[in-house]
Amino acid sequence: MKAPAFDYQKPRSLDAMFALMAAHGDEARLLAGGQTLLATLNMRLSEPALLIDITSIEALKGLAVRGDVLSIGALVTHSEIEASPLIAAHAPLLALAAPHIAHRAIRNRGTWGGSIAYADPAAEWPACLMALDGVVVARSAHGERRIPAREFFLDLYTTALTEGEIVAACELPLHRPDDVVGFCELARRHGDYAIIGLAMTARRTPQGLRGLRLSFLGVGATPWRAEAAEALFIDRPLTADAVDEMVAAVQSTIEPLPDLTNSASMKRHLAGVLTRRLLQQGL
Ligand SMILES: Cc1cc2nc3c(=O)[nH]c(=O)nc-3n(C[C@H](O)[C@H](O)[C@H](O)COP(=O)(O)OP(=O)(O)OC[C@H]3O[C@@H](n4cnc5c(N)ncnc54)[C@H](O)[C@@H]3O)c2cc1C
Repeated sequence: MKAPAFDYQKPRSLDAMFALMAAHGDEARLLAGGQTLLATLNMRLSEPALLIDITSIEALKGLAVRGDVLSIGALVTHSEIEASPLIAAHAPLLALAAPHIAHRAIRNRGTWGGSIAYADPAAEWPACLMALDGVVVARSAHGERRIPAREFFLDLYTTALTEGEIVAACELPLHRPDDVVGFCELARRHGDYAIIGLAMTARRTPQGLRGLRLSFLGVGATPWRAEAAEALFIDRPLTADAVDEMVAAVQSTIEPLPDLTNSASMKRHLAGVLTRRLLQQGL
């Protein structure tokens, strides 16, 4: 199918973009990488009168270390993340997850900010942002505010962004030598959206693990943190028995939504498989 007719504007600054957003309100949509939006237009799931192409706005570009955080601009593409030495050094979880996102052509155009703002529960970046306890920098014509990831993803494709706000960037704590990260997912074919995936972060201490975060994608309406299982691992050495307990805790608390080909009980089983795989591999 073809997209319905729409007007197109390409502002060069945030001010010009906010002016267009204010003038056109709900009739306008931001266009970043277009890898989700253009498909929804072609399928006529959305019929905006105006597309505001934000890809020339310098303020939304680039990766940088600022103080004790790594800032990822909204327009940074999945491929840039995959190849970046800054990401490898300061947010290696993202380097592990990036190759799982779609195919190269989509990763070359799709953006970090588009993925976070769209909040697909099967997408890799929202789950990673939750695992890293990152922060979304939301920007409007009136200024900036910081929203912790755990307060950002509210429901299916629904975020804490309010009218007139965009994702300008995200901030992640810098990776430390004693941090442990892991990522794995199951998909029917490489490049397909995942059936289920898991991003893990923890800090190694002489006593065991601290601050373990298990953030699943493809489970519910938003990324899901396995908090009951995480709580079992405060200052505790990882043994085979401990892994068994952890898997049992994940499987008894997860409430997966089925998809077209996988039942809730299949996803519950797979959640246990991924948990065991990551804990055994990475720790
Ligand atoms: C065949 C196919 C397979 C895919 N597989 C995967 C996959 O496995 N994993 C995965 O994570 N993704 C996958 N994607 C989606 C891809 O990663 C998209 O790039 C991403 O979801 C959206 O980013 P975008 O820059 O393309 O956003 P766009 O398509 O341009 O925009 C998406 C939505 O976000 C809004 N938006 C964009 N940027 C901002 C911003 N800065 N602030 C506020 N709103 C904004 C737009 O208005 C629009 O509503 C796939 C896409 C395709 C076509």
